Amino acid sequence: MEWRNKRVLVTGAGKGIGRATVVMLASRGAKVVALSRDQRDLDALATETGCESVCIDLARTEAIQHAVSATLPVDLLVNCAGTTVLQSFVTTELPDFNRVLAVNTVAPLVLSQIVVRDWLDRGIKGAIVNVSSDAARRGVVNHTAYCASKAALDAMTRVMAAELGSHGIRVNSVNPTVTLTPMGELAWSDPAKADPVKARIPLGRFLDPDEVAETILFLLSDEASMVNGISLPVDGGLSVS
Ligand code: NAP
Repeated sequence: MEWRNKRVLVTGAGKGIGRATVVMLASRGAKVVALSRDQRDLDALATETGCESVCIDLARTEAIQHAVSATLPVDLLVNCAGTTVLQSFVTTELPDFNRVLAVNTVAPLVLSQIVVRDWLDRGIKGAIVNVSSDAARRGVVNHTAYCASKAALDAMTRVMAAELGSHGIRVNSVNPTVTLTPMGELAWSDPAKADPVKARIPLGRFLDPDEVAETILFLLSDEASMVNGISLPVDGGLSVS
């Protein structure tokens, strides 16, 4: 893939998988627009990679149009920003449920619409990767909102692929299992909790953020030119074991 003429918008770029994706793209020559909600993270990333940055809270759906329109044109899009709340099904609070859906599902919808409308106007054959989760297919205890949001994101990915394929636009998702981002390290540092899960993963370990970033870059790239509408597990074989 020749990245040098590509301009890529990456959300959730401040930390974790989004950050790893920005660093990898920039190191391969892409021009990156990093979107996140902490200006200090974005400043550090800009110093390290030379990326442009947009600071916005994607839970504020009404603010997305203005912020993202200013970043256009882009050639490729990665919807990576994500959040969760730990509540059992019966104690799930509607405002929390709606906030998780707003960031994980509604923001990718609104943001992708802005980018895709521009691609359709200009006849650009772009590619989108939505960062979903293995939780899209499983019933993870205390993750009602998160599982629902990621299952909806996978469903939306399939519809986008079906509708936009005739315009040469590809849309896929990646579905990682536990990834050792700052958030992942915090949640899974206790061996008593982590070891039984690792034991169910045939490759026997959790993911490094770079392993997800590599998969995202593959799906964005021309090497994946006939890959469209899939939700690709990045899980060491967990989903087939
Ligand atoms: P992370 O380390 O917490 O990083 C997420 C980044 O997104 C942070 O920079 C965060 O900013 C930003 N962000 C969160 N909410 C935002 C919002 N409302 N508006 C703008 N930016 C926002 O998370 P991660 O582990 O890299 O996760 C990235 C994606 O992978 C998520 O969609 C997640 O669901 C998915 N995923 C993660 C794992 C895992 O085990 N880590 C597994 C499967 C899927 P702040 O730091 O300011 O909050």
